[in-house]
Amino acid sequence: MHQPSATPRPSIYYPYRVYDAWLPSRHPRDGRKPVVIVGSGPAAMVTALELSRHGVASVVCTAELQFSQGSRAIVFTRRSLEILQQVGVADRMMANGLPWRFGNSFYRGQRVFRMEAPHDPDDRYFPMLNIQQQYMEEYLYDACAASPLIDFRWGNKVTQVAQNEGWVSATVDTPEGEYILEADWLVAADGGRSGIRSQLGLQMEGASYEGFFVIADIRIDLPLPTERLAYFDPPWNPGNTILMHREPYGIWRVDYQLPEGETPDEALRPESLKARIDAQLEMIGFGGTPWDMDWSSVYSARTLTLPDYVHGRVVFTGDAAHLLPIFGVRGANTAFQDAQSLGWHLAYTVRGLAGPGLMANHSTERVGAAREIITEAGKSTRFMTPPTRGFRLLRDAVLSLSLTQDFVRPLYHWRTSRPHEYTHSALNSRGDDNALFTAGPAHGAPPRNVRLASNEFLLDHLGGGFDLLYFTESSAVPQPLLDVIEIWRAQGVALRITAIGSPVPVLGADHTLADADGRVRQRYGVPASGAAYLLRPDQHVCARWLTLDATRLHAALEQALQPVVVQD
Ligand SMILES: Cc1cc2nc3c(=O)[nH]c(=O)nc-3n(C[C@H](O)[C@H](O)[C@H](O)COP(=O)(O)OP(=O)(O)OC[C@H]3O[C@@H](n4cnc5c(N)ncnc54)[C@H](O)[C@@H]3O)c2cc1C
Repeated sequence: MHQPSATPRPSIYYPYRVYDAWLPSRHPRDGRKPVVIVGSGPAAMVTALELSRHGVASVVCTAELQFSQGSRAIVFTRRSLEILQQVGVADRMMANGLPWRFGNSFYRGQRVFRMEAPHDPDDRYFPMLNIQQQYMEEYLYDACAASPLIDFRWGNKVTQVAQNEGWVSATVDTPEGEYILEADWLVAADGGRSGIRSQLGLQMEGASYEGFFVIADIRIDLPLPTERLAYFDPPWNPGNTILMHREPYGIWRVDYQLPEGETPDEALRPESLKARIDAQLEMIGFGGTPWDMDWSSVYSARTLTLPDYVHGRVVFTGDAAHLLPIFGVRGANTAFQDAQSLGWHLAYTVRGLAGPGLMANHSTERVGAAREIITEAGKSTRFMTPPTRGFRLLRDAVLSLSLTQDFVRPLYHWRTSRPHEYTHSALNSRGDDNALFTAGPAHGAPPRNVRLASNEFLLDHLGGGFDLLYFTESSAVPQPLLDVIEIWRAQGVALRITAIGSPVPVLGADHTLADADGRVRQRYGVPASGAAYLLRPDQHVCARWLTLDATRLHAALEQALQPVVVQD
């Protein structure tokens, strides 16, 4: 019988709430569900919220009774905030998080590189926002709890998954024993140590790096701005790297690499933690400042992914699907992108609005994203923890040259998490004008935000299904386009028309944006009236035309929902 801990986790700043376990005896017997999601981390909860946005109900089974232990992921990117805006939690993240855009790299007491993440007035969100993972999970959970389509079951541990012809059966253990839950689809979002991945005997591909890092969260009052601080080869930890981040609620993250040969157990002894944190504070000029320990943990960098995320009716997502180095803030930020993609691909499949190729497309696109991250993050990881003598020599040469030579300094630049562009997606329209545009987001790219005259932003007005951005100075959307759209809507496909460029409401459009200063047209590279962009439900561009006509719109929607996917 599964007995999750009902003792609130220790924390000096976050009051953990213990939720009641969902007990089968208190509920009617379950029929088969469209989707069961295993886990309650960011991947699981954003998937549930996305499914519910697209009209699909899910059951979320999570083993624990409370949010995860410790701050874990603390840095969230602009694109993550845009995704969280879609599921209704970005405002709470913004209200409580700390935005930032500068990073500093130090070597031998000298600042050798200052990273400046671009931020222009068209961006609603800062490049980065720091907030602890428990808060993010709380906001996501509150949104899940508010959705009538999400059945959230605390204290429900999935112990066994059996695949059948077109459905899955899960054995769920609870504080009063087991029950069986049947579903058309099961989403395994059960984290890096995924029991479901092991049970299905699936192997990840890639590499694991040897160096260990300690993450320690301390409460301390440091008069420093919210900027990322990285110290290379400091005297108290020769050859290694230390990172520091300000978190909300008076907490700082100190993240340091261990000397070769030291075990995680040795590193987490209180006296070892204290000596190193004191040494770091001393080095940056705050020796003697009082501090309290909140949480500490050890991690090592891995660049691993499953080669396929869809196995029969079981879909892996988030850390269950891949393990990526957290340098460059890739943990939860990647999980959000996975979940946003999975949410609509699965919803349209469950609702019978798409062909069998759509789930295969999800896997191909997200495995492609993981592989791109592995290549990029591998470079950062090899710089932080050189795996061989050769890499160390190279890294040390960069460090010492950077004291005097400007040209090597950009090598410090983190390759920070960014949204993957599905440039070669099978969903991209074949017969559109993508290649004829000279600017604007191309096939597979995420959308560009634009500040509107009202001080709102373009992305505030999008979401919920496919979005057609129709650039026009006419008073009405042409009838043939409306006829095609009506055909798709009648099948249940959500498609919203936003007319851009007319000072008065455009007949047939769901919404009109005047774009008086031409800013949207400029950001989207639109030369003349009649051009259009089609965004998928995850907002990535799947077609764009200099002149849209009904036949080409119909073909693009067919391509996006009935793809023929060739897997690697
Ligand atoms: C110690 C630590 C420190 C980290 N630090 C950072 C960081 O600094 N920056 C960063 O970007 N990322 C960091 N990460 C990674 C980040 O936390 C993850 O990438 C992110 O949480 C992935 O989300 P997920 O939903 O895929 O998995 P998780 O958040 O791990 O969620 C998995 C969920 O599955 C549940 N579960 C597991 N097994 C079962 C089961 N059998 N039945 C039911 N439920 C189950 C768990 O209780 C949990 O709710 C850290 C992770 C750890 C462990």
